[in-house]
Amino acid sequence: MQYPIPDHLKPYLIPTGEDNSELRVTGALRCKCGGVAFIPYTNEAGTIAAARCRKCGAKILLLHAGRHGWDGFVAKADYLYDLPTKMHPMETCPHCEKTTPLAVRVTITSYGKEDFIRDSELTDEDGKPLREEDWVNAFSSFRMDVVCPECGETTESIIDIETA
Ligand SMILES: [Zn+2]
Ligand SMILES: [Zn+2]
Repeated sequence: MQYPIPDHLKPYLIPTGEDNSELRVTGALRCKCGGVAFIPYTNEAGTIAAARCRKCGAKILLLHAGRHGWDGFVAKADYLYDLPTKMHPMETCPHCEKTTPLAVRVTITSYGKEDFIRDSELTDEDGKPLREEDWVNAFSSFRMDVVCPECGETTESIIDIETA
């Protein structure tokens, strides 16, 4: 079974749970150093997400709607070109409001590989050729949740965006 994990997240997203398929995957973020505690960053519009590893300091880009997903990667939607890129750190748990690094969970949905091949005809809007394997980069939605190590609560949909 192939999951719709885009190329830029393949080194970082570890699928969790029993519910994953070609059309949907939920995973936990893990840094290359093994760290699982992060400071998440988002822009105001909810179109860009990143996370900084608490252990090694690496910054991981999770979503840039202007480059990732069907609209950014295939359709090159004009309105996405000029995203406000000022990023705000989330340094406290939205639930208990303690200052703490957070675990990050990402859910990505896709219309699947066959749908991608048929609808894109393996070219993007600029006429650049795409590979069949690019179906994972043309996902249809992205959601980021955070889990607090202090209170144990999950805060869902820090970012929740349709990308197709
Ligand atoms: Zn790290
Ligand atoms: Zn908390």
